[in-house]
Amino acid sequence: KSKDKGGNVVAPYVASLHAQAEERRVMEQELRGALERREFELYYQPVVTAEDGTLNGFEALIRWNNQTLGNVSPARFIPLAEDSRLIAPIGEWVLRNACAEAMRWPSNLKVAINVSAEQLTDPNFASLVVSALAQSGLPPQRLEIEVTESVFLRDGGGAAQLLDQLIALGIRLSLDDFGTGYSSLGYLRKTQFSTIKVDRTFVVGAAKGHTESIAIIRAVVALADSLGMATTAEGAETEREVETIRSLGCSNIQGYYYGRPMPAGEVLTLFRAPEPRSSAAA
Ligand code: C2E
Ligand code: MG
Ligand code: MG
Ligand code: MG
Repeated sequence: KSKDKGGNVVAPYVASLHAQAEERRVMEQELRGALERREFELYYQPVVTAEDGTLNGFEALIRWNNQTLGNVSPARFIPLAEDSRLIAPIGEWVLRNACAEAMRWPSNLKVAINVSAEQLTDPNFASLVVSALAQSGLPPQRLEIEVTESVFLRDGGGAAQLLDQLIALGIRLSLDDFGTGYSSLGYLRKTQFSTIKVDRTFVVGAAKGHTESIAIIRAVVALADSLGMATTAEGAETEREVETIRSLGCSNIQGYYYGRPMPAGEVLTLFRAPEPRSSAAA
């Protein structure tokens, strides 16, 4: 009975699906040539010790500036790269670039990179890491690889084995976005992560006084402590969020409060002695 009414509702919906599919097609096509056109850049965001704010290192975050699409967020193009097998060459570029860049920093600083579950289905991934470390000269202890729980959902067992190979190389592993996915505690028993990254949603909630977020951060910190792992709170923007995280006992903090992701060149300026005041020359 409501046939024509339904048709009116469905038509624009279908049109928008077509538009989305077309947008995806264009983006995938542009993504194919992006590496050769050198359209990617790595930005680096500081990670500091919660207690005293000392710098521990940086997380590398990819940026894509495309000739026709402009700046595209990794939250949009990384999933597409994962679906279209483009993630392997892009991921290799990220790994090699981040290792080389970290060699220009003081040697106490670590670099973290994000690695997709799809990259870990490559049985040669560990040799790729070995190659990147050898080529750059970066000590394995300075490289941290961030994965999400989704790695454990693919090809049962294979990923955990690969993660063990990476640990054997001496690099560190972080479990990213903890609490947003499947969060089976079994994963924490399977793999010796160095760090659990607490997702920003809990940081925001806790600072607003939401009891669930506070309880979750407390539980994650206690669990990490007992398993010999550190915790990094993601996305702290305000002093209140920083204070809340500190009081809850997270080991590290990453967020706009301490620094936004910045180009590699800007990171280097942080290590230079400040320019002498020009008063003497005047
Ligand atoms: P992620 O690994 O969880 O990275 C943290 C995200 O939070 C980054 O977004 C970062 O810019 C943002 N962030 C940091 N501090 C704050 C804050 O105080 N407030 C807010 N609102 N946001 C903050 P970004 O750079 O857009 O990256 C989004 C996601 O894309 C990353 O989430 C990661 O999953 C993925 N990604 C980024 N670079 C790479 C890469 O090289 N390879 C792969 N596979 N994935 C990547
Ligand atoms: Mg990350
Ligand atoms: Mg994260
Ligand atoms: Mg996140």
